[in-house]
Parts: sequence; structure tokens; C-alpha cells
Amino acid sequence: MSVSVVETLDPQETEALGAELAARLRDGDVVLVRGELGSGKTTFVRGAARALGVTDPITSPTFSIGHRYRATHTTVSHLDLYRLAGGLQAEDPGLLDDYLGPGRIAFVEWPAADSAELSSARLRVTLTHRGADRRRIEVAEG
Ligand code: ADP
Ligand code: MG
Repeated sequence: MSVSVVETLDPQETEALGAELAARLRDGDVVLVRGELGSGKTTFVRGAARALGVTDPITSPTFSIGHRYRATHTTVSHLDLYRLAGGLQAEDPGLLDDYLGPGRIAFVEWPAADSAELSSARLRVTLTHRGADRRRIEVAEG
């Protein structure tokens, strides 16, 4: 497993880091994005989605668990599982089917740690507040 740690000093740097990560992604990949509220998860995903060719505004899913966006060579799924605080087990097992799999690259905010459907994720991103606009961003692969 390879792990890299970066500190960013503003949202633009976090978006740029997301864009860098996007260049490493392949069809079907799932990226788990963890961190407290306001740590920059959506900002990171926005940078990655832009780099993959999404032109629509990337906003936090509010009334559903996720959004799907047309990108250049793929569909970008952006899920926020915050409201599934108890994990996915109690939910419809097919809940994520429309968002994951071939032809898609998925970013999942706030995943339950032990969800089987998400355990095969290729990358795990963890964001941590470091005061003011500083964020620690760890990217673990494998
Ligand atoms: P989350 O999805 O984790 O709740 P958001 O990305 O929606 O977080 O919000 C992060 C907030 O923090 C935004 O208002 C953003 O402008 C601000 N911010 C300040 N500094 C940074 C940084 N270095 N990286 C990311 N966001 C930052
Ligand atoms: Mg968010």
C-alpha cells in the first residue's frame, strides 16, 4: 500500500490535488473520501471531477445519496453517505448499483468503515483540519 500526505493552504490547492489524483484513476474505480464536515471532501471531489471533464457545477448531494455527472470518457458518481451513519447494511443492498461499476468513476464521501460494497475501493482519501485554511490530506492506495 502506498500512502502520500500533503498539506494544502487553500481550497484551490485541494482542488488541484484532486485533479492530480484524477489522472491516476481508471474505469470502475471507487475513491473513498473521509473527513469531518468542512474538511474539504466536496472541494477535493470537485477538483477531481473537473479534471475528468465534468462541466456541470459539482454540489453536495442533498435530496439523494448521490449525483452522476457526464465526464469526458466516463460518468463521475459523487455520493455522500453522511445520512447513512449506521452503515449500508440496513439499507437496500442495491442502493449503490446506479453509481458504481463499469463506465463510472465514483467518489464516496463519508463511507461507513465496514461496508462490503465499498471495501474494494482503490483509493482512500482522508482530510483533516489543521487550523484556518490548512488541511492535511492523506491519499492511500491499495
Ligand atoms: P466537506 O465536503 O468535507 O464538508 P467542503 O469541501 O464542502 O467540505 O467545504 C470545505 C470548506 O472549507 C469550503 O468552504 C472551503 O472553501 C473551505 N476551505 C478552506 N481551506 C480549504 C482547503 N485548504 N481545502 C479545502 N477546503 C478549504
Ligand atoms: Mg461534502
